[in-house]
Amino acid sequence: MSTDTQDRDTTDGFHLVINALKLNDIDTIFALPGIPITDFLRQAQGEGMKVISFRHEQHAGNAAAAAGFITGKPGICFTVSAPGFLNGLTALANATTNCFPMILISGSSEREIVDLQQGDYEEMDQLAIAKPLCKAAFRVLHAEDIGVGIARAIRSAVSGRPGGVYLDLPAKLFAQVMDAEAGKKSLIKVVDPAPKQIPAPDAVMRAVDLLKNAKKPLVILGKGAAYAQADAEIKAFVEKSGIPYLPMSMAKGLLPDNHNQSASAARSYVLAEADVVMLVGARLNWLLSHGKGKTWGGSSSKDAGKQQFIQVDISPTEADSNVAIAAPVIGDIGSCISAFNQAMGSGWNKPPADWTGAIAERKDKNLTKMAETLAKNPPVMNFHSALNVIRDTVKDNPKAYLVNEGANALDFTRSIVDMYEPRRRLDVGTWGIMGIGMGFAVAAAAVTGEQVIAVEGDSAFGFSGMEVETICRYNLPVCVVVMNNNGIYKGTDVNASGGPEMAPTQFVKNARYDMMMQAFGGVGVVAKNPEELRKALAEAVSSRKPTLINAIIDETAGTESGRITSLNPAMAKKKA
Ligand code: ADP
Ligand code: MG
Repeated sequence: MSTDTQDRDTTDGFHLVINALKLNDIDTIFALPGIPITDFLRQAQGEGMKVISFRHEQHAGNAAAAAGFITGKPGICFTVSAPGFLNGLTALANATTNCFPMILISGSSEREIVDLQQGDYEEMDQLAIAKPLCKAAFRVLHAEDIGVGIARAIRSAVSGRPGGVYLDLPAKLFAQVMDAEAGKKSLIKVVDPAPKQIPAPDAVMRAVDLLKNAKKPLVILGKGAAYAQADAEIKAFVEKSGIPYLPMSMAKGLLPDNHNQSASAARSYVLAEADVVMLVGARLNWLLSHGKGKTWGGSSSKDAGKQQFIQVDISPTEADSNVAIAAPVIGDIGSCISAFNQAMGSGWNKPPADWTGAIAERKDKNLTKMAETLAKNPPVMNFHSALNVIRDTVKDNPKAYLVNEGANALDFTRSIVDMYEPRRRLDVGTWGIMGIGMGFAVAAAAVTGEQVIAVEGDSAFGFSGMEVETICRYNLPVCVVVMNNNGIYKGTDVNASGGPEMAPTQFVKNARYDMMMQAFGGVGVVAKNPEELRKALAEAVSSRKPTLINAIIDETAGTESGRITSLNPAMAKKKA
């Protein structure tokens, strides 16, 4: 072979990574450039990939996680070594906790120097650090292994219980050269990356028998059910069974929140009263009071309630993690729910009318009360009067994505703003983490092209606020609504020492968050009352321009820790 042909017929690490991703239908990368990935990102964009570059790696990572949840394909995040990698790690751990598929790919320093701890530029043993925080972690040292590395990362992220995967690519790998033909052959197109997992028929029968004999059955739909994209099967199951259901936060909209079988407005009643509870892609963690205690009708906080549980989940080790599961059904939710639909047969009896009637009665009462509260127009806007407007806007734009974080801004939005379409609500998830806001918003807009409305507490917004520049740079249809009450929880805390400094939970009064969006060419609006908020939201949605609405909320509105007061030691002490 002449040198000439050799030059023409070689490929390198950069191209092998790009081609391996493209071969697996991955077309979007969330990233923050720097050594050693800057040129990789340039080339990826050059090769037609969508590269969204952020101002902080945590938000790029959160965007990848949200993209994973929305699409069911692994979201890809690229970071630079050590500090960039660490910044991305929070998002990787959060994705794993939430069962969102993402791959954090980070450049790293050279093994020879790192392992002898000789002090390389941004030296860190990244693989070892990532391992306990994600579902799987891999490193590729040779260009010919890139195909295998990407394939293993994809399978690990999306098969079984989805989660975060770390892929370590030392800087030298990108420049490694190999024969183009051999390189092409080394790439792997992953066949059936998230294989169906069919439930055992006897497990399904055991569960169906339990449901059949229930007097007060309840279905709880979790974000696993939303993620599974088995929307039609789940709707058919709920409607055929006639069983009342509760959606967990990110499962809202899987069936429209105004569905007559939704028991959301009678949540505490159904949790305490139900006799058979079927969990579909929802874990009995703290968000469900661990399946025991007074919430579930138990007599003390440690007592089991009166329920028997069915748990439909892809992970066989999830059952019995908090309380006994009488009927575990292990498989992917689509296959499991189809099996239920078949096993229920044609002569299925709907739940007793005294159960559904009692729920309907409580629902009516609570919904009437809520409607009265929402209709009030207090002189200073509060969470309710502001969220009433957002509730209407989402109803008029059911395809819009609602991103939501904060304490009170989260709790009130979750209960007030109804969702109508699956996977449209993106929030703080299993950890109740702050900082997901702008990363999730960018991902939803970039991946789907739909309008995004991000309802943010003023504190929560601060964690990712600089990404409004990213929103403007890519001209994304994102409208951020900052619920501005001058502080964390509320703005009226006082300095316990009597000194002049503000209390730790207070922020600068009357901050102009709207000007942050203006600084980058977007639209910034102040809304002091529901009419102004309504007008600003309507304009944002019709123009699709990057918009930030600074919604001025009563600074006395809000409670400490929102609805998780019981987890705050100071408040628990006060109560005791
Ligand atoms: P939520 O917070 O909404 O209750 P969780 O994150 O606690 O939801 O639970 C999601 C559950 O869904 C996890 O236990 C996970 O194993 C499961 N899961 C995720 N994807 C699937 C799927 N495709 N099929 C079955 N179970 C799934
Ligand atoms: Mg606040």
